[in-house]
Amino acid sequence: MALLCQCRAKSDIALVVDELDSVADIEVRNLPCKVQSIKHLNHDVTQIILKIPGAESLQYLAGQYVDLIHPDFEPRAFSIANAPTNSGLIELHVRQIENGKFTNFVFNKLEEKSLLRIEGPKGDFFFREESKKPVILIAGGTGLGPIKSIIEHAIATKLNRQIYLYWGVRDEVDLYMDLPEQWANDNDNIHFVPVLSEPNDAWQGKTGFVHEGVLSDFEDLTGYEIYACGPPAMVKAVASTFVEQGMIKDNFFSDAFVFAFTGKK
Ligand SMILES: Cc1cc2nc3c(=O)[nH]c(=O)nc-3n(C[C@H](O)[C@H](O)[C@H](O)COP(=O)(O)OP(=O)(O)OC[C@H]3O[C@@H](n4cnc5c(N)ncnc54)[C@H](O)[C@@H]3O)c2cc1C
Repeated sequence: MALLCQCRAKSDIALVVDELDSVADIEVRNLPCKVQSIKHLNHDVTQIILKIPGAESLQYLAGQYVDLIHPDFEPRAFSIANAPTNSGLIELHVRQIENGKFTNFVFNKLEEKSLLRIEGPKGDFFFREESKKPVILIAGGTGLGPIKSIIEHAIATKLNRQIYLYWGVRDEVDLYMDLPEQWANDNDNIHFVPVLSEPNDAWQGKTGFVHEGVLSDFEDLTGYEIYACGPPAMVKAVASTFVEQGMIKDNFFSDAFVFAFTGKK
């Protein structure tokens, strides 16, 4: 391992940049948007639908995120939860963070018709459409947002690769949408497994951490493409344990929902 931030070149060097063409082609834009609707999906997740005014729309790849900009706060990152369809609508799933300044504002004060700005699309967590490998998608909490974008895009483009979705939450109340079940019922190639880490007594499904759920179902992960999105600890657990069970690093894509807290606003 080399810590490149600690290295100094002693001579001329050639750098090879592994640039992702499909992302490089997309312009990052700063656009105004209006809050079209706000809906509390459960005790700590709010769905916000933003509308970009006029005929404008944001070009992005399924899985990417935007920075949400409000004049009273520093920008906060949220993944886009709807598939790219040029509709001018952006759906976000925002989890309320204890003592979190912006997410508490969203939960308690943000109103429909408010004006915000978004900057994006950003990030290299996006669905690799050219691949033919079966896909394992792992979402932790609101990590379902970008995974929803990927699955809706896969359904819209009639993708026939096998898709295994594992959604990890604490208890049943945290499964804030019924859509995953619907996707699995309506599409033969989509399979859905919820995994609860702190289940109530009535729960009969999988329990434990979501990455353990995948590991127990797939003995050999060699042939799979794996996408993981959600809390940093979950993403880290997937990255470190899946390689031992055959996952090839180049077939692993992730977005960790780290906090942007800087001590300012
Ligand atoms: C690429 C990316 C995509 C993301 N996508 C999503 C998504 O789709 N949905 C989603 O719900 N989240 C997502 N997140 C996470 C989201 O950005 C954060 O939850 C959000 O920024 C928290 O903002 P906040 O203002 O509420 O919290 P902050 O006020 O920034 O606080 C964050 C943390 O710092 C702590 N803190 C606050 N004040 C203090 C203090 N004075 N001293 C010490 N600690 C303090 C808080 O308790 C909290 O734990 C994403 C993050 C990234 C990086």
